[in-house]
Amino acid sequence: MEETNAPAKILLVDDEPVIRETLCAILKEDGYQVLTASTGREAISVGREEFFDVAIIDLKLPDVEGTYVLHCIKETNPTICSILITAYPTTESAIRAIQEEAYEYITKPFDISHVKLVIKRGLEERKLEYENNLLLSNLKSEKEKLETMLQIGRAMSSILNLEELARFIVTKITDVLRARVCSLMLIDDDDALVIKAAVGLEPGVVKDTRMKLGQPISGWVAQQGDPVRVTDIEKDMQFGRTSLPKYETKSLLCIPLKIKDRILGVINVADKSGPGKNNVFSEEDLGFLGIICNYAAIAVENALLYGEVKNLAITDGLTTLFNHQYFQTHLSVEVARVQRYAHPLSLIMFDIDSFKAFNDTYGHPMGDGVLSQIAKIVKKNVRQVDIACRYGGEEFAIILPETKLNEAVVVAEKIRKSVEEVAFVTGQNTTKKKMTISGGVAQLASGMTKEDLVRAADNSLYEAKSSGKNKICVHSV
Ligand code: GH3
Ligand code: MG
Ligand code: MG
Repeated sequence: MEETNAPAKILLVDDEPVIRETLCAILKEDGYQVLTASTGREAISVGREEFFDVAIIDLKLPDVEGTYVLHCIKETNPTICSILITAYPTTESAIRAIQEEAYEYITKPFDISHVKLVIKRGLEERKLEYENNLLLSNLKSEKEKLETMLQIGRAMSSILNLEELARFIVTKITDVLRARVCSLMLIDDDDALVIKAAVGLEPGVVKDTRMKLGQPISGWVAQQGDPVRVTDIEKDMQFGRTSLPKYETKSLLCIPLKIKDRILGVINVADKSGPGKNNVFSEEDLGFLGIICNYAAIAVENALLYGEVKNLAITDGLTTLFNHQYFQTHLSVEVARVQRYAHPLSLIMFDIDSFKAFNDTYGHPMGDGVLSQIAKIVKKNVRQVDIACRYGGEEFAIILPETKLNEAVVVAEKIRKSVEEVAFVTGQNTTKKKMTISGGVAQLASGMTKEDLVRAADNSLYEAKSSGKNKICVHSV
C-alpha cells in the first residue's frame, strides 16, 4: 500500500446492473474513485493491471466464482481490503471467503449505509496497519544504525592499526547508508588530502588521488569543517558541475573528521543504491554519518597517535630513519631469511667526511641540519623494501634485500653523488658548504654471519676513508 492523499480506489464487481450502478453512484458521491466490472474475467484483468484499495465482489458471477476473482487480484494487490457479497449465503462460500482472507462477508439485500461503514472501517484499519509497518521498518533500520554505531564505538578502542580501522569505517558506512562508494581521506604532512581506505573506487584512484585543501568538494570540507550534502551535483548552487564521471548517481555526502576544531580529514559517500528518488542522500543520512564521523574521528586520532608512538620506538627522531636497534633486529631477520632461500642481500654503510670540522665551524644545530638533509637524500634513492637506518652519530646503514653487490654499488654511488651536488646551509648568511660522504658496500656470501656482513661493509668504508674520502669501496669476496 502506498500512502497518498488521493481518494481511495474501489473495484466493484457485480453482474446485476442495478446494484452495480447504484452502488457505484453512491460511492462516487462519497468521494471514492470507482471502477466497475460485470464479469469475473473483466475484474481479474483490471485488478491485475491497476492498484486498488478496496474490492467489492459478488460471489456469484456468470463466468467464475467471486472468491477466485479475489484470489487473482490479490497477486498484484496483496493488501487490498475485500468485501464479498452474496444473495445465497452458504457455509461453503463463507469458508472460502475466510480462506481468501476477505475483510467482510455481506449478504443481499444489504443496507447501503452498512456497506459504506464497512469500507470506511476497512480503509482505516489498512491505514493503521500501513503506519504500523512503516514504524516497524523504521525501528528496524534505526536498530541497525544503532548497532553499527555501537560496532564503530567498539572498534574505536580495539582497532589501533590505521589502515584496518579506515577499511572498517568505510565498509560499515556503505552497508548502513546503502551506498556503493565511500572513501576516508586524511590530511598528510604536505596539507593534501589522500585516501586511506575506500570502497567502490579503482585501486589506481585510491593510490593517486591527492587533493589540495580548498578544492571542491572534499578539500573544501576539510578546510571549512562544515559537512556537505549534495542532492544533485548538476544543479547544486555551490558545487554544481555537469559531470561527475567517477560516480553513477548525482547525490553525495562529505563530512569532516574533526576533533574539537582540528580537522584530520573527511569521509565521502556516493552512489546510494535504490531506484528514483531513493538514490538521493537524505538529511537523516547526513545526520547519521555525522554521528559516525564523531566516533570515527576519535578512533582515527587514536590510531594515528598509536602509530606515532610505535614509530618512536624504531625510528631516529632527527632523521626519521630507522634507529640502530631496528637495524640490528632487522638485519638478523633478513640474514636468516636469505640463508633459507639463498636470495641476495647487500649492505651499504657510509659516514660523513670531515663532519667534526663542519660542527666545529658552524655549530651543532647546523650539523643536525646536514644530517637530516642527507637522510632525505637517502630516502629519495632507496626502494620501499630497503631499510635505511641511522647507524650512529654521522654514520648510516642501508639493508637492501634481493640486491646484488653491483646493484647496491649503483645505489651507494647515487647517494654519494647527490650529497656531493648539494650546498648545505651553514647559518652564516649566504655561505653554503659542500659536504661529501664515504661508503662501503658488501653482499652476504654463504657462511657469513650478520656480524661478518657489517664488518665487511665497515672495512670497505674504512678503506674509502683512508684512500682519500668521497668514494665508495666494495668488499669483494
Ligand atoms: P671522517 O671524515 O674521518 O669521518 O671525519 P669526521 O670528522 O667526520 O669524523 P669524527 O669521527 O672525527 O667526528 C664525527 C663527528 O660527528 C663528531 C660529532 O660532533 C659529529 N656528530 C655525531 N653525531 C652528531 C649529531 O647528532 N649531530 C651533529 N651535529 N653532529 C654529530
Ligand atoms: Mg665522519
Ligand atoms: Mg664517524
